Formats: sequence, structure tokens, C-alpha cells
Amino acid sequence: MSVLTDLIYAGSNAVAGLTEGAVNDAIEKYGADQSISFGDTAYFLPTIYAATGVKVTTLGDLPACVGVMKSLISNKEDLGEALNAGLATAVGAEIIEALKFVGNPDPYADEKGIGFVSDPIIRSLGVPLVTGDIPGVAVVLGKADDPAEAVKVVKDYQSKGILTFLVGDVIDQVLDGGVKTGLELRVIPLGHDVTAVTHVVTVAIRAALIFGGIEPGNLASLLQYTKERVPAFVNTFGPLNEVVVSAGAGAIALGFPVVADIDLGENQVPGALESVLDHDETVKKSLELRNIKIKVTEIPIPVAFAAAFEGEIIRKSDMHAEMSSHKNTTCEVVLMKQKDEIEDKKLTLIGPDIEGEGPVELPLACVVEVAGDKMQEDFESVIERKIHTWYNYMEGVMHTGQRNQFRIRISKEAYESGLRLKDFMEVLYDMIINDFDAVVDKCQVTFYTDKEKAAEILETVAMPKYAARDERLESLSDETVDVFYTCILCQSFAPAHCCVVTPERLGLCGAVSWLDAKATNELDPTGPCQIISKEGCLDEVKGIYPDADRMVNEASHGALEHVTLYSIMEDPMTSCGCFECICGIMPEANGVVICNREFKGMTPTGMTFGELASMTGGGVQTPGFMGHGRHFISSKKFIKAEGGIERIVWMPKELKDDVAPRLNKTAKELYGIDNFTDMICDETIATDSEAVLEFLTEKGHPALNMPELM
Ligand code: SF4
Ligand code: ZN
Repeated sequence: MSVLTDLIYAGSNAVAGLTEGAVNDAIEKYGADQSISFGDTAYFLPTIYAATGVKVTTLGDLPACVGVMKSLISNKEDLGEALNAGLATAVGAEIIEALKFVGNPDPYADEKGIGFVSDPIIRSLGVPLVTGDIPGVAVVLGKADDPAEAVKVVKDYQSKGILTFLVGDVIDQVLDGGVKTGLELRVIPLGHDVTAVTHVVTVAIRAALIFGGIEPGNLASLLQYTKERVPAFVNTFGPLNEVVVSAGAGAIALGFPVVADIDLGENQVPGALESVLDHDETVKKSLELRNIKIKVTEIPIPVAFAAAFEGEIIRKSDMHAEMSSHKNTTCEVVLMKQKDEIEDKKLTLIGPDIEGEGPVELPLACVVEVAGDKMQEDFESVIERKIHTWYNYMEGVMHTGQRNQFRIRISKEAYESGLRLKDFMEVLYDMIINDFDAVVDKCQVTFYTDKEKAAEILETVAMPKYAARDERLESLSDETVDVFYTCILCQSFAPAHCCVVTPERLGLCGAVSWLDAKATNELDPTGPCQIISKEGCLDEVKGIYPDADRMVNEASHGALEHVTLYSIMEDPMTSCGCFECICGIMPEANGVVICNREFKGMTPTGMTFGELASMTGGGVQTPGFMGHGRHFISSKKFIKAEGGIERIVWMPKELKDDVAPRLNKTAKELYGIDNFTDMICDETIATDSEAVLEFLTEKGHPALNMPELM
């Protein structure tokens, strides 16, 4: 036998033995009826569920799984067979980790790692993964001989926006090395035991179930999905024991290449398992093996510029300067100009910079003027909204808010590195020319930090512009435009999914409005957003358009024949999985329940967000369930076919408060109802179906008197 297969089998057999023992012990201690669950997931023990279709809910379900696991270990001298044994290790690791949760809902409370990753977090990763904001996923495992080397590698991934999971003692090495960790910072410690690697394996596996619509039990298509669509890879630090090697074999079976920092000699498997002894080459080689290309935007500013810094928070004590609407005049506005009205790359600061003893407080009116043959006034707001993202890409800069209500903080460290306001202008100029080159030929930026000048700009330029834009947005409806757009950005994860984006129904991720789709189409006419003609509308209430059918049929590669824009019961729009909210019917209330991704509690349907969400996804139509953006809730088109917003009977309180002003306005306009949200139940009032019904009856909720939903 080769050394490699030998090691894999030794590891798999060891893990199988440990797992079997642990299962037997647990059954003896707690009984076979004891429930077992990772917590916030609708996919049971995800690896076992996806690979076999078995829904493990109690300890009594596990012995059969141990049997399946053992059957994967053939001990035959063949690399393919040995990789299957690696999958057995993954199953064993999953069981061992799940057992930690028996009788202890938070076994990771005292760990530096987070352990299990919930379904809603995976859904929230959908958009950044498809847009390339997160270009790949690294699993870094083990303990580096020289901690500084591990720190260097992890920081390099972080600066490239790679989502990095840490397993083993490398966690302490990276934390001691001063790397900031957390989901927003893209570096996530999982746990110290090697079995904690299961928590990233199940992320990949649930991606296949959530976005890919993979049927549980179809192991072959599961492995094909993870190989083709999950851009993950593994780096190991330090010596490899047999368990690590067999876990690595599991990774390879899923299609994730492994780069080890020890010399594996002839045991290397080109493309799948390779040795890279020089840590300066680790990152490059890993990205190459997984074919991950990093988009670098080289901007000549004194701090780093990358998506990885987006979530950075700057506290008051770390702050050198602040431009805040709470204290001073602020506004940011993008204006379309004629080409001869502006000078390309003219960057002007009128007023003081952020020099001097901190904290420096300044007003800031930021005026960005753009011109181009294909520029349209409608694209101003699309560009303007990106300012927030770009500023946050700068290390040591935090931006919140928009328009005339924003706050920018600049850290002491960034200031000491030399960051000044001209660098902000440089960022705006470079990014606009880079990202909007198809519509912008010329761009000039002016910052006003002079108190009086800033106030003048706010009053005479910015406010009138915002007002005009709001008027334009108000007047935009599905009736007043000529075309809708498709969006198929999410197809890299949900190959059959297609959003139809209209002025009144934004993409279900919440990130793509009709104006965004229009701009995307203009920037890249053969790209993800294609024009849908409104001609020949067959049903205005349900929203049935022949061209929408045709485009969705094409985009779904024939999987879908019909789609309605405004019905949840008849050919509803499909979901990829990254929706902000999920809407599901509550038959006993003759209405619908809406739940947002952030809500962790139970809904009156008896399902959590994750469980509701699992009812739809992967580009499949599921009448009665529909993913959508937050903003759609107050739309006149929201499930119009079923009677509209009057069907909404329950929402989490936070969501209800957030949408209340707009939703109440729509209810008043459409039905003459005042304060409609007072009639909608939430978790602070009731979550069990009977109590919800009681509340609705007491409030005289209109859904109770509407035609039967089913
Ligand atoms: Fe994905 Fe739809 Fe959002 Fe496009 S609009 S990014 S397809 S969820
Ligand atoms: Zn999506």
C-alpha cells in the first residue's frame, strides 16, 4: 500500500472507532430518544442529510449512520476508494461535533472558535460570493512552526477578501499575531479540535442544498456541486497525523485542493494535494489550484483598499477625525454634467484638511460630477450609493449613512499613515472610472470642508437634487416603465435561478433595484441583467408577461415555463437562497407570515426563518413560499394576486417597525386603513397560532374576511 492511502485509512478507521464509541456512550448516558441538533439549521446533521437523505434528530438515529460511515471505508489500495474513506472521516467528525451539542446548546461558549455556522449566515454570504467580493474560501488548519508565517498567510487572504476559517492551534497563533477576526472581517476561528473542520464542510454542503437545490441523498451531484461551485481550498500547517490526512482526503473528495507545508514527496497528488514549503508561495499556489482570480484595484493611497475592511468599526477612542451630520453639515451627491462642463480628474479641496491634533471635526460636502456619452441621470444614484462601499474598503475608514445624513470616521492609525482627504477623492475618481467606465468618460470631485461653502452646497445643490430624485422614484412604477430586467448574478450558486426586477419589486437579495439592473445592463449589455419587454401582458393582477416567461425559461435552461410577478400561489418567482425575507402562508389565518434573515425566533407557522427558507431555493418554484427583499413588503404589487399587503398577519417586530412608515402609507392609499401595522402580530404579542388568531380577531384584521387563500 502507498503511504498516503495507508495514512488515510488509518485516520478514517481511528475516527470511525472514536465515533462509534462516542455514540454508544451518549446513548447509554442520555437514551436513544435524546434529541440532537446543531441549532440554527433546517438541514439536520448536514453532511449525513445531504449525502444520504437521512434526517438525524435523535441519538437513536446515529448507529445506522455509523454503519454507513464504516461501509465507506473499504481499505482497498485505490486512491478513489481512499477518498471515500475521507468522506467517512467527515461524517465521523460531524457526529462527534454534534454530540457536543447534546445537553449543551452552546458548547463553544468557552472556545475561541465559533463552532457551528447558522443557515442565515450562509444565506448572507450568497451575494458577496457571486459578486466576487468574497473571491474564495480558505480553510487553514494545524499549528505553524513559526507563528509569524501563519499570521502572514492569513493576513494575505484577509487583504484579498478571501473568507478564511481557522481550525486548531493556528487560531491562537493568528489571534496573538494581532489579526482581527469575525465574520465581517472575513477571518473566522472555528475550534481547536480537528473535528471542528466539520463546521466549514457543512457550510459548503448546505450551500449545495440552499442555493444549488441538490436533492438530499444524491451524493454524486452533491460532490459535483461542491467541486464546481464552492471555491474552497485547504492549507495545513505543521506535521500531519493520520486523522488530518484522512480529513484532507475528505476535502479532496469534495473538490477542495489541499496545500501542506511539509514535504509529501511522492505522495503528492498533482492538483489535489501538493507540498509548498515556502510560505511566501502558499497563497499564490492555493489560489492557482482553485483557479481563483483576485481583482486588484491598485489605488495610490497610503492605506490598504479591499473589501475585507468593509466591516471595520472605528471607536471614538481610536478616531482622529470625524465628519458627522450630527455635528456639522454633510452631504454627498453625484451629478451628471455635459462633457465640456467638467475637467477630468480635477480633485479640489475647498477648506481645511484633517491636519492637526485629533479629534478633528469638519463639515463635508462632497460633489462628484460625471460626464459621458452613455451617462443617464438615473445612474447618478447608482454611483452615489457605491460611495459608502468604497470608503469602507479603505483601512481605517468607517462610513455610515448616505445623502445628507452620514458619518465618516478616520482612525488615528490611518491618519498617521498619511491618509488625507485628497485620498478620498482619489478613491472616488479611480473607482468610478474603473467600475463605470462604460458610462463615465470624465469625472471631477470637489470636497467642501469650509463651513459656509458646505452649507451652501447642501442647500442649493444637494437638497434640490435629492428632492428631484425622490420625485422620479415616486413616479417609477411597474406601469410607468417600458421594460423590466432579469438578474442572473446568483446563477454561479443557484444555476437555475433568475430574478425578475421591476421598479416595484427589487431583487430578492435587496441589493438590486430596477435602476441598478438598468445600469448593469448599460454597463454590460450581454451581462447578468437583460431586458424583458412588457408587451402583450396577459394578466395585470398576477403579473403575467410572455417575455418574462420566455426570459425565465431561457435563464433557467428550460427548468421553468411560467413565472408570475405578483403571486405567491401561482408560478411564484423562484429563489436562489440569499433572500432578505421569506414569506410563507399561514392557512389558519388566511394570510401570510414574513420573516427576515436576522430573526432567530419561532414564527407562527411552527418554523424558524431557516426552516421556512429551506422550503424554497435553488431556483425552484414552491407555491405558498417566496423569498423577497425587505423593500418589497410595502409595495402595491406585494402578492397582489392574493389580495396584496392586507394578507400580512405576522412579522418580527424589528422588521415591522422598519417597514411601518411605508407599509402604512400603502395600506392607507390602497384600502384607507390607518396604522395597518398595529393589526399585524409580532413575536412580542404572540407566536403560537391560536394566540395569533385571537389577536387578529380582536384587531379586526382584514385577512380574516378575505377569500380563502387555499
Ligand atoms: Fe441574485 Fe436576484 Fe439579487 Fe440578482 S437580484 S444578485 S439574481 S438575488
Ligand atoms: Zn441570490
